[in-house]
Amino acid sequence: MKTLVIATHNKNKYQEIKALLEPYGILCKSLTDIGYVEEILEDEETFLGNAMKKAKTIAFATGLVTLGDDSGLIVDSLPELLGVKSKRFSKEGTSLSNNQLLLDMLKNERNRAARFISQLVLYYPNDTYYTYLGKVEGEIAFDFVGNNGFGYDPIFIVKETGKRMAELSQDEKNRISHRGRALAQLIEDIKNETVVI
Ligand code: IMP
Repeated sequence: MKTLVIATHNKNKYQEIKALLEPYGILCKSLTDIGYVEEILEDEETFLGNAMKKAKTIAFATGLVTLGDDSGLIVDSLPELLGVKSKRFSKEGTSLSNNQLLLDMLKNERNRAARFISQLVLYYPNDTYYTYLGKVEGEIAFDFVGNNGFGYDPIFIVKETGKRMAELSQDEKNRISHRGRALAQLIEDIKNETVVI
């Protein structure tokens, strides 16, 4: 099996990526698995900049092919907020406090349109890379529903299904989500051998 480092400490994100890639003979390892404990500062202004930084840092540190994912929620009525700063939207930065703050801020807002973005960067230790972008449209609900997934999933209504992201099983989420869609493009490239891990 070929090893691919997934440049994240986020267990949920890692599980989603691993479930899609392992059927293609790719052995995924998280930063926790490889014992990489340092924090990679996500201080770039774009998803691409941050994903590139995470993937390149780890590819150079380990000498292994690395996949970086930078993702987040874009809310149309709050264009300056969230986005690349989705993880630390509230002061506490927990999923519960982020979700609660967003519901409070949108209490009287009629435009609830939102989307999740996933930017993937596959980085090679020889300094070459591939990028993939996925998104899923939806809207922000008025309350929490569902226990699956992570982050903003309980308050995000997926446009195509009318269901909360947190009501979907991991397989269902992977078929429809921003990350699943970005990974589907990478898998296409692996299958047609444009990309070799
Ligand atoms: P980062 O990619 O590690 O910077 O994290 C981005 C943040 O965006 C996460 O901490 C979540 O708050 C949010 N996010 C990214 N992807 C998802 C998802 O699939 N569901 C819910 N929230 C997500």
